[in-house]
Amino acid sequence: QAKSAGRNNYRLFLPEMNQQVSERVIIENDLRQAVARDELRLHYQPVTDANNQIVGAEALLRWEHPEYGFMQPDSFIPIAEESGLIIPIGQWVLEQACLQVRHWQDAGLTLGFVSVNISARQLREPDLSQAVRNALDTSGLAPERLELELTEGSVLQRTEAARQILEETQALGVRLVADDFGTGYSSLSFLKQFRFDKVKIDREFVRDMLTDQGDAAIVKATIAISHAFGATATAVGVETAAQADALRACGCDHLQGYLCGRPMAPSDLQELLQSGCLIEQVVPTL
Ligand code: C2E
Ligand code: MG
Ligand code: MG
Repeated sequence: QAKSAGRNNYRLFLPEMNQQVSERVIIENDLRQAVARDELRLHYQPVTDANNQIVGAEALLRWEHPEYGFMQPDSFIPIAEESGLIIPIGQWVLEQACLQVRHWQDAGLTLGFVSVNISARQLREPDLSQAVRNALDTSGLAPERLELELTEGSVLQRTEAARQILEETQALGVRLVADDFGTGYSSLSFLKQFRFDKVKIDREFVRDMLTDQGDAAIVKATIAISHAFGATATAVGVETAAQADALRACGCDHLQGYLCGRPMAPSDLQELLQSGCLIEQVVPTL
């Protein structure tokens, strides 16, 4: 009876450990088909400047699973990384993001930049710069409008190889972003080793910056050190106007968070862009 109810119910009868393992196997198998079956979606979250103008957007991956519905990246990206599936998926993300932004540009809606998250596994492949080049060639997007977001964790192993791959990619004109900044172990040497154009302040620090002096200090110091390294600073997770005011007062260059907009389907961002709150220039580095 359980079996005929479909594999979703069937799973409930497995002991917890086996259930987790089998769930993982199911997700990995399904993920293997996801690109070919056209189940992956990119959502876009607007990034704004101090005047509330949209300067760019971050591309965030979603998976429309036929059975489980809309899946957030935290529930499948780790599996994609461990299985190596992040390589073809990452290529799809790069190409899709570039094509979308180029499409908007052709329609007269030019985004300053689109940023794409790159995982550790992708940085172990020398092909990353080739994948970036392909995405730019296919779309015709200017390299200056593409940003790659990297975390400290993603370059922790094989830092030297990662640096070579990234320098090669940067030579194409693509911008590099330090993501989740401050959450790792050696953030300052991370900034020193790579020539970042932008630093993203993690939402962990933004969340309580108005009530926690330690968080406020970290936010201020991160903005200062970003500028000292010739990079701009973007605060992530900005949910209230009070946070936005405080961040602007500290000299934070860009804001990203539910206050300005959640990650949204392309059609929704397009509407927002059409409403006129758009800055088209490539954002200059300091
Ligand atoms: P991230 O790169 O740090 O992305 C920011 C996350 O913060 C997003 O979660 C976004 O929805 C969330 N966020 C932004 N503003 C707010 C806010 O005001 N409040 C709250 N509560 N959350 C906010 P999301 O979309 O679930 O993505 C989670 C992570 O998954 C990303 O973290 C990124 O590390 C990873 N990811 C997403 N797309 C991709 C992808 O295409 N490739 C890879 N390798 N990783 C991806
Ligand atoms: Mg990111
Ligand atoms: Mg983050």
